[in-house]
Amino acid sequence: MAKKNKKEITLDLSSDWGLAPAPESTSHIKLKKKYDLFIGGKFVKPKSGKYFDTINPATEEVLAQIAEADDKDVDLAVKSARKAYDNVWSKLSGKERGKYIYRIARLIQERAREFSVIESLDGGKTIRESRDIDIPLAAAHFFYHAGWADKLEYAFPNRKPEALGVVGQITPWNFPMLMIAWKIAPALATGNTVVLKPAETTSLTALKLAELFQDAGLPDGVVNIVTGHGTTGSHIVNHPDVNKVAFTGSTGVGKIIMKAIAGTNKKSTMELGGKAANIIMEDAPLDQAVEGVINGIFFNQGHVCCAGSRLYIQESVYPIVMRKLKDRMQALVVGDPMDKNTDIGAINSKKQLDTIKNYIKLGKAEGAEMYQPKCNLPKKGYWVPPTLFTNVAQSSTIAKEEIFGPVLAIQTFRTIDEVINKANNTPYGLSAGVWSDKGSKVFNLTSQMKAGVVWANTYNKFDPTSPFGGYKESGHGREGGMQGLEAYLKFD
Ligand code: NAP
Ligand code: MG
Repeated sequence: MAKKNKKEITLDLSSDWGLAPAPESTSHIKLKKKYDLFIGGKFVKPKSGKYFDTINPATEEVLAQIAEADDKDVDLAVKSARKAYDNVWSKLSGKERGKYIYRIARLIQERAREFSVIESLDGGKTIRESRDIDIPLAAAHFFYHAGWADKLEYAFPNRKPEALGVVGQITPWNFPMLMIAWKIAPALATGNTVVLKPAETTSLTALKLAELFQDAGLPDGVVNIVTGHGTTGSHIVNHPDVNKVAFTGSTGVGKIIMKAIAGTNKKSTMELGGKAANIIMEDAPLDQAVEGVINGIFFNQGHVCCAGSRLYIQESVYPIVMRKLKDRMQALVVGDPMDKNTDIGAINSKKQLDTIKNYIKLGKAEGAEMYQPKCNLPKKGYWVPPTLFTNVAQSSTIAKEEIFGPVLAIQTFRTIDEVINKANNTPYGLSAGVWSDKGSKVFNLTSQMKAGVVWANTYNKFDPTSPFGGYKESGHGREGGMQGLEAYLKFD
């Protein structure tokens, strides 16, 4: 390893480096004070009469109150989905279903600005991400699946594809609208009806989407949205008239759901946690690789299931990669998610903030060395500066467990065999990244990585045509592409 420079040169480009504020306007947004459940095409009050607050994690201000669905509300939603399936949706041709899905896609595009702003207000993610990634990709998923609705016989020739019936869907808070699109679009295209529960801290875009379904004239009951906590989700999972459970969330809750549906006829897809390895070989284009690492772990505050949270750097380029990485981190702007210059927004909730802080404390206690750039964090709200750890052991907790925050654990390696062993030595298998100039090295590494998605010389790229999903404890089943359609169908 190169001798440490006596005086390390770092750029001081912290958030007060002089960019003029560029706030996105919120004046065009209309939020109700209280949101009811969306059942049978209408907003209805929860049977319990209970509501909970949804807050803006960047300011801790209450944005609205959200209804809490209990077992009776969930039962009503499943009945309404079944009625819509039997009487309307299963009777429509694929071409007719496709028309509705196209209409939904176009309406999302038309209202993209409104959806992006609400997503950032409710979840804390930067407006740049919700505007450039989440909402356009959500629309793209509806467009893509609209195209499949009348072509299922061609996608699965001689297999007589049929809808499953009523599907229960449960989504997390890190990509609220996008995860909903990943679930609802293929379900509708394949002829199923839906009962969806969004994450409790980020229900607003789901409820806005319910308003959009009304505007699109989607037949009543085809999609029902029941908001609430984990128990609301478990009522969906345990309802006897649900034919499939599609879940995205933590491995812990995934295991609870799999136990609950064991022995029933319910199908399932599980998109669970991850601990992705991002590998920089010595011949990699280093600036591009560093940018990819930054994008891989600090993008969306590290609230990404496929975040490149473990970085493996080949020993010969370790000093130069570390210098570039620290310089780049120093230039990241942390703060107001509504400012278009912000790179890292607010942590989604107080609970998640505490979890991340605990892992940082644990990293230090276990002997790893921490680096955080200088940055001025806002006084209110939930914030964590971009953080990296060196001197990390393969057995360190921060290298093993999913942190779901902007925290990077760095290790070095000498040979390809060593890094493959280290990268695959995890119970997860959702994604991975490889950086190298040599095609043969890339193919060697990507074919040996036990991960559902492996990016080469890029990171965190998504497309509706490409199936996404994990190995091992990262879950089973795929979303996107033809594999994603198949998960919503049964065959002769
Ligand atoms: P989570 O705690 O597992 O919650 C996910 C969803 O399940 C939420 O809507 C949650 O409701 C609900 N839920 C909680 N307990 C439940 C139960 N017993 N039965 C049924 N539903 C229940 O996960 P999260 O913290 O929201 O999201 C972060 C996790 O999602 C991370 O592990 C991440 O890796 C994973 N993720 C995976 C993918 C992927 O594609 N593989 C994509 C995104 C995120 P509440 O919100 O009310 O708790
Ligand atoms: Mg919120």
